[in-house]
Amino acid sequence: MNIDVRGQNLSLPDSLRIGVHDFKVVDNHPFRERSDLSGQCDHGTREIRIRRLDSGGCVVSGTNLLVTYLHELLHAIDRVYGDGTVTDGDKGELAISCLSEGLAQVLIDNGMMVIGEQRAVVDQIEKGKA
Ligand SMILES: [Zn+2]
Repeated sequence: MNIDVRGQNLSLPDSLRIGVHDFKVVDNHPFRERSDLSGQCDHGTREIRIRRLDSGGCVVSGTNLLVTYLHELLHAIDRVYGDGTVTDGDKGELAISCLSEGLAQVLIDNGMMVIGEQRAVVDQIEKGKA
């Protein structure tokens, strides 16, 4: 899944291994059944779904897509490793939202996200190991 963050291409994995489970990232899921969702983690099908258009049909910004991606990732981690302890708590959704917003900022502003040409280098390294 590629997104534009501050004018740079950010390549996010299309699948994630969390615990022993492989989650598929479904890019641009339409969410026909619920127009208020920007993302969703389905633990039954092991899918993380991301929507690129908001409920009004407007394009979602790259930074918002990144925050949504991390938000759903944190739900998956919480379910797999914590049996949903954070999510199911009184302020669980708020906690996940705070962590995803903060994580996105810290990862970007401290050079911990692989962007653009760096991704190509990582891909070459990974191919060399395969
Ligand atoms: Zn959530």
